[in-house]
Amino acid sequence: MNAGWNLDNSYVLLPETFYSRIDPIPVRDPDLVLLNHLLADSLGLDPEYLQSREGIAVLAGNRILEGSQPIAQAYAGHQFGHFTMLGDGRALLIGEQISPQGKRFDIQLKGSGRTPYSRGGDGRAALGPMLREYIISEAMYALGIPTTRSLAVILTGEPVFREIVLPGAVLTRVAESHIRVGTFQYISRWGTVDELRALADYTWDRHFAKDGNGDNGHDGNKEDEEDKKDNKEGSPYIRLLRKICRRQGALIARWQLIGFVHGVMNTDNMAVGGETIDYGPCAFMDAYDPATVFSSIDVYGRYAYGNQPEIGRWNLGKLARALLPLFSDNKEEAIDLAEEALSEYDKAFRDNWLKGIRSKIGIFNEEPQDKALAEELLEIMMNHGADFTNTFRAFALGKPEDTVIFGKKEFADWLKKWQARLARQQESEKDFLKLMRENNPALIPRNHRVEEALEAAVNRGDFSAVNRLVRVLSNPFAYSPEQEEYSKLPEPSACGYRTFCGT
Ligand code: AMP
Ligand code: MG
Repeated sequence: MNAGWNLDNSYVLLPETFYSRIDPIPVRDPDLVLLNHLLADSLGLDPEYLQSREGIAVLAGNRILEGSQPIAQAYAGHQFGHFTMLGDGRALLIGEQISPQGKRFDIQLKGSGRTPYSRGGDGRAALGPMLREYIISEAMYALGIPTTRSLAVILTGEPVFREIVLPGAVLTRVAESHIRVGTFQYISRWGTVDELRALADYTWDRHFAKDGNGDNGHDGNKEDEEDKKDNKEGSPYIRLLRKICRRQGALIARWQLIGFVHGVMNTDNMAVGGETIDYGPCAFMDAYDPATVFSSIDVYGRYAYGNQPEIGRWNLGKLARALLPLFSDNKEEAIDLAEEALSEYDKAFRDNWLKGIRSKIGIFNEEPQDKALAEELLEIMMNHGADFTNTFRAFALGKPEDTVIFGKKEFADWLKKWQARLARQQESEKDFLKLMRENNPALIPRNHRVEEALEAAVNRGDFSAVNRLVRVLSNPFAYSPEQEEYSKLPEPSACGYRTFCGT
């Protein structure tokens, strides 16, 4: 069978400090429970083959493909502010698939067994968290947010032991790369300057060079414009940092605009290519509140919704520090250059957020008061516990009367200002309703819906709710009748939602 595998292994050409060669540990009785047909197609892989005995064996780690050189990648990271050595403790990169369009994607098995970086862990993953990563990463993709993707979930037929015994699973994760801020931190701490340079060059070629994966939809033409400015900069490594900062600023702005709370923005969970990575305790905010935290381990709210932009910058500061030796031999000069490059993050975040929030309220042109107008709305939403997604959804439907803030004095005042603002643009009402529909999803993966689907799959082996959820989330801007049901809010008893780390 021509499966379509077209694997390369460019990462193993880096010095051996960067990884450990290790094969996945076979599982007892693999069974395919979820497969992403469209993603398989776009990678040039045959979905029929992936459902065959051989395809499943590959996705389970029971069979090693010809041309595959499995590795666990080394990295470090600041976890909740504390620096530690980490690495792929339960994941393996089996190779880089070159798609029919000539793009390169890491194919990673998550839950594939112990590695030299496993520390005390078992190297395995439970079904619930792997399905969760599948559902949420694919929802993010459909929402237009750069993200790693999910190709398949395999049940291993083996139990994993957490607080309770759970079914084990392996997720096939697809990423532009798995190079993290923590990968640079690791090399900066334990490698040589030559190795650091090799990693920086590799990252450039892989993500930013015109013949690499290029912008891949991260920032579109804007990257080209900014490029021209960057070309004037001296060090190519400053240019690299500036580009990483811009993508990260754009990414985190998009999270904020959609109400996504990553939950564990440690530096090892930040991909320098600008994709959202590592769906552990993440969740979408219901009522708008910057203090929203879901993760049970985030007791101080370090990674609360409203802190994400600042944490993004903090993490990039760690990247900049790791890169310092490449900027200049003069430390002071290197620091100045780094500071300047980091300001690109602030700018990208601000610009993308403002552009996005304008679109969310139907504004095409720019006026200096737009930011204040949007912030005033958010404050009203916060004061009345208004649902983030459904408030904007109601606006997109031309029905502000369907929101909980309707009828409140502050909102009545705001509505007048907004209507006056909308009138100060050439576009018609039809145009701005369209703009709002394109920028305000009709639905997001509501926590109670995700939980209900996972419960059926994990406890009863019933994957129908997971499949249905994945399907409705695949077109979040459709505003279809089928989606109505999924846009409903949870019962008050389901509030106070908590997520647990994806182990
Ligand atoms: P995460 O919280 O998923 O970003 O993981 C942080 C670190 O813990 C990474 O180095 C993971 O590889 C490692 N890790 C998480 N779960 C396990 C596990 N079950 N076995 C071994 N390592 C793990
Ligand atoms: Mg991680």
